Amino acid sequence: MPCTVVVGAQWGDEGKGKIVDALSAAADVVARYQGGPNAGHSVIREGRTIVLHLVPSGVMHEGRRCLIGNGVVVDLQRLREEVEALEALGLDVRPRLGVSAAAHLILPQHRAVEAFAEAGPGAIGTTGRGIGFAYRDKAARTGLRVGDLFEPGRFAAVVDRNLERLRREFPAVPSLAAMSGAALLAEWRELVAWLEFLVCDVSLELHAALHAGRRVLLEGAQGTLLDLDHGTYPYVTSSAASAAGAPLGVGLGPRAVDRVIGVTKSYATRVGLGPFPSEMPEEEAARLREAGEEYGATTGRPRRCGWLDLPALRYAARVNGLDELVVTKLDVLDGFDEVRVVVGYELDGRPVEGFPAAAGALERCEPVWRAFPGWRAPTTGARRWSELPANARAYLEWVERECGVPITSVSVGPERDAEVQRAR
Ligand code: GDP
Repeated sequence: MPCTVVVGAQWGDEGKGKIVDALSAAADVVARYQGGPNAGHSVIREGRTIVLHLVPSGVMHEGRRCLIGNGVVVDLQRLREEVEALEALGLDVRPRLGVSAAAHLILPQHRAVEAFAEAGPGAIGTTGRGIGFAYRDKAARTGLRVGDLFEPGRFAAVVDRNLERLRREFPAVPSLAAMSGAALLAEWRELVAWLEFLVCDVSLELHAALHAGRRVLLEGAQGTLLDLDHGTYPYVTSSAASAAGAPLGVGLGPRAVDRVIGVTKSYATRVGLGPFPSEMPEEEAARLREAGEEYGATTGRPRRCGWLDLPALRYAARVNGLDELVVTKLDVLDGFDEVRVVVGYELDGRPVEGFPAAAGALERCEPVWRAFPGWRAPTTGARRWSELPANARAYLEWVERECGVPITSVSVGPERDAEVQRAR
């Protein structure tokens, strides 16, 4: 293991939470490397579903150190609520949790302007949590980091300067008028005192952990096709969700990573706007959505549903350098007579090589389909490869052959033990 990355190979919501939770059993440290509180990993524990937004999924295992890296944007109020909710379940969280001093902060003005922007014509379907605007400040070098909270004079001055600019840019957002650096610091006094104990140098800790032979798991949020660089821009998230973002987002060098695990559903979903070549007609999607409970873990929004998209999966295998593939939610397809897959795209009557970079081109692509016979049998009880129905095995073996990455595990239900481990 020494340093493993778990990355979503689709548009997020692949079931990474369950996989990271399982892999955490063999890890000493689990770190989140990007994203903000829009990601909602669901983990099931003793029959209860727990949705994690900022805290790494490793928190469910006692004794694991859980770190929030420099690549993450933090909403302090939400972090505290999440930690307290976990503690109410009897988990000791604070002594094990560390937050990078270099992680950027989501401020109230980020939320206010994002809500406004998302109500206008340039909307891209974000969760409206201020994440994109926090990353915008980061890239513009006007952002504030966790460590800056402990330099109140400078912090307040930067907040005020940013507010001045935002008021000019967004004159129609009235709540900006009453905001100020001093007011924010006063409002956050107790929150900052609560946070101080958690602030750490994630890079230093992870280096030390790896040197000492401890096992590190780096956990992403969203998925490859929502990556700022490699996703279906501009319908993407504002950070590096793909595997290369992992060492970047925790302060390690790329050679520290020695295993990259991609997680894909046995079909596809997408939340928000943007091209989705394998999308199903709504009637079919509604059936899959019900079977797979495809509603956003953070917002409850119904997810758009489609079949597996092989060109997109191959692309994810390439840009992440996947060593292994984990396929989740196989059981959701149990009742379907036929399982379809997009095997290629055509653009203007010609086959497309690779994955189109321009959203417009991807939107115009015509999918080329292949149908597999369904297995019409329950898979949730299967624990070995040989216990999966023959048609399910044939489907999975075809997928791994076509994308050139071995499938090492198949998830067959939401419960922790509902998994087929594949001997390698
Ligand atoms: P993540 O953000 O990638 O962790 O994905 P989510 O947590 O948003 O979505 C995964 C959802 O699917 C959660 O509700 C899980 O409990 C559930 N889930 C994970 N694996 C399986 C599976 O193999 N079968 C079924 N039916 N549900 C699963």
